[in-house]
Amino acid sequence: VNVVTTIAECREIRKNLGYLALVPTMGALHAGHLSLIEHARDKADKVAVSIFVNPTQFGPREDFQSYPRPIADDLAKCEAAGVDLVFNPTPEEIYPPKGDPAEQTAAEVFIDMPNLSNVLEGRFRPTHFRGVCQVVAKLFNILYPQVACFGQKDYQQLRVLTAMVDALNFQVEIVGCPTLRDPDGLAMSSRNQYLSDAERQRALSINRGLFAAQEEYSKGFRQTNRLMTTVQKIMLEAANQGRVPLLIDYVAAVDAMTLKNVLEIERKTLIAVAARIGPTRLIDNVLLGGD
Ligand code: AMP
Repeated sequence: VNVVTTIAECREIRKNLGYLALVPTMGALHAGHLSLIEHARDKADKVAVSIFVNPTQFGPREDFQSYPRPIADDLAKCEAAGVDLVFNPTPEEIYPPKGDPAEQTAAEVFIDMPNLSNVLEGRFRPTHFRGVCQVVAKLFNILYPQVACFGQKDYQQLRVLTAMVDALNFQVEIVGCPTLRDPDGLAMSSRNQYLSDAERQRALSINRGLFAAQEEYSKGFRQTNRLMTTVQKIMLEAANQGRVPLLIDYVAAVDAMTLKNVLEIERKTLIAVAARIGPTRLIDNVLLGGD
């Protein structure tokens, strides 16, 4: 696998890669990321993976500094997965400081999609999606992939980026890929490694809640109030509490396209959860309807 850290090297190698699929990541790769690489390979001749913990999508009190960066492991996984190019830049390469104070530095240039970005995650991470759009737009302009794969685990991110590509006419096909889960049902995430055993047990109530809502939907329940109450009840059940507290940021039922609240499920609807277990913030979701 070619591993490059500069934009210039990246462009040089990209020239020889033809029809290319990109999988943007922040590293600490797990089987969920590897499944995206597999989808990428199905869609294109060559696969590039970017590994970049993007500072501009983290809030001031978030885990940018402590985010795991096991780069040697990540490169070995990319090698084993047959990835053709890994782009692993430094923050300075992506956001170079500019000498001229009249100019905007790259880190100050944002794409804002308020209708989709201010809800759900955006209520708790107000600057998150403008940072995501910023870095992904830059990656598209550096690598000009024909395809880019993103996980449904971060459903709002997938939706925001799809809308960005539509609005700004990026020539790239955005592919959404299903959420990979551990055998116990917990959605795989690089942040799961922050969890102690007890916290992980507590975290399982998130997916159990979502699966229970899915089950109710399959039995014919369509009122989102009912489904959201089910999710909340399971997450807050006394039997689940133990000594590990879980704090719900939100449980929401929104239209999968507009991300606006839904009362009764008639179209594709996202049931989304964000919760904090100690210092660790986890998100998960299921998609219902629309079939
Ligand atoms: P991250 O490194 O967390 O920024 O994630 C990089 C990409 O992997 C994003 O498109 C995520 O949605 C996707 N991803 C993360 N976790 C999973 C998962 N459990 N299953 C599928 N895709 C995932």
